[in-house]
Amino acid sequence: MITSPKFDAIVVGAGPSGNAAAYVMAKGGLKVLQIERGEYPGSKNVQGAILYANALEEIIPDFHDDAPLERHIIEQRLWMLDDTSFVGTHARSEDYNNPPYNRYTIIRAQFDKWFSSKVREAGALLICETTVNRLIVDGDQVVGVQCDREHGEVYADIVVLADGVNSTLARKAGFHGEIKAGNVALAVKEILFMPEEIICQRFNVADYEGVVIEMVGRITDGMAGTGFLYTNKESLTIGVGCMLSDFKNNSNRTSPYVLLEKMKRHPSIAPLIAGGEMKEYCAHLIPEGGFNAIPEVYGNGWMIVGDSGGFVNSAHREGSNLAMTTGRLAAETAIAAKATGGHSYRACALSGYKAALDKSFVMKDLFKYRDMPKILHRNPHFFTTYPDLVAKAARTMITVDGVDKQTKKGEVMASFRKSRSLTGLVGDAYKLWRAFR
Ligand SMILES: Cc1cc2nc3c(=O)[nH]c(=O)nc-3n(C[C@H](O)[C@H](O)[C@H](O)COP(=O)(O)OP(=O)(O)OC[C@H]3O[C@@H](n4cnc5c(N)ncnc54)[C@H](O)[C@@H]3O)c2cc1C
Repeated sequence: MITSPKFDAIVVGAGPSGNAAAYVMAKGGLKVLQIERGEYPGSKNVQGAILYANALEEIIPDFHDDAPLERHIIEQRLWMLDDTSFVGTHARSEDYNNPPYNRYTIIRAQFDKWFSSKVREAGALLICETTVNRLIVDGDQVVGVQCDREHGEVYADIVVLADGVNSTLARKAGFHGEIKAGNVALAVKEILFMPEEIICQRFNVADYEGVVIEMVGRITDGMAGTGFLYTNKESLTIGVGCMLSDFKNNSNRTSPYVLLEKMKRHPSIAPLIAGGEMKEYCAHLIPEGGFNAIPEVYGNGWMIVGDSGGFVNSAHREGSNLAMTTGRLAAETAIAAKATGGHSYRACALSGYKAALDKSFVMKDLFKYRDMPKILHRNPHFFTTYPDLVAKAARTMITVDGVDKQTKKGEVMASFRKSRSLTGLVGDAYKLWRAFR
């Protein structure tokens, strides 16, 4: 028999997706309980971290006023690296210096705490240091959760699963299967303390302006993955992530830690981080299966949001904005279901969540890049051959050594021909077009 306490909604997890869902539902007048296993929101969370403002503005329009934000980003660099050099593009615009700013660096532990304070101000009840062990199901309806506390059963009309990548709750309940190593990346990152003025000098920015560097190439030892370096106010975040399946199959048995250390020694990166004092080191999984790996996202009395649903756009390195948007859309669906009289929380009443997702940028973007994960994983030479060739071509053409430019061009073309046949090149161009169309 079902006993009290009973809530309109229980949200499992206090990351960006859970906080967005809890905040919107509480603001919408629902009685919300949020359960987080960490000591406090943010204590378990790992992110680069770039915060994309738009998704949060949809929820808390004036968040810029008091959220703990590090620097707003005015420049984005994309580097291709071989072992000793990089070739890159730098996109910088004064337009990004005009508020409202488009994106910021954040420190997740501080940001999640702030977001959670807003959730509680909105009226939700948060319980930390509590793990949800399983969903309580009555017939085919999810009616609550079982926590790791004495008398830990709590009931609600709707349970929102915001428990992050590899959601054990969804797996135990059979909402999705085991996560596949080919659908998830393992990333490590460090936060390196550095005085503000040194960051400004090294990255050519003023106070509060920030730079993002995304990297691809030899830093991942031939595995499908990328590296990143972000400027915070008084620290840098540096990290690298590769597909878990590649780590498992890699003949060198490279560990994420070894990869990061090697990346930090790269001659193009080392001078930027020199003198940085390590403040934080952590590793985490990122769902990268994309559109084809998204499970059922709603059912009788439940909805899945954020990383637990695999909502990450790895092509653009966006996760937290998809997390907040899915959390918001699930919350709006719950509010609408409640408004209809509050008696039916069956799948049909919650199907509006999927419809809203399909209409939003979330599913449109994931659909656009639907072939990307498979193509990149099956073509590891994209992470070795082309960065090597591009870096070598740049060096050959730039070096002034008495050799005429036509001969140099011939050398460059010869090295391209040697590395990839014409058919191979055309095939790769087609694959890249399909991946990024
Ligand atoms: C190294 C790295 C860099 C990244 N960089 C970026 C970036 O720059 N920009 C970006 O937009 N995205 C980035 N991402 C992705 C982004 O971090 C995620 O998409 C985002 O955090 C997902 O939010 P979430 O709320 O769904 O999950 P999470 O942030 O993982 O939160 C889940 C929460 O649920 C709690 N929880 C889990 N299980 C239970 C349970 N059983 N009971 C109670 N609580 C539970 C956890 O403790 C956690 O607090 C990065 C990810 C990584 C790993």
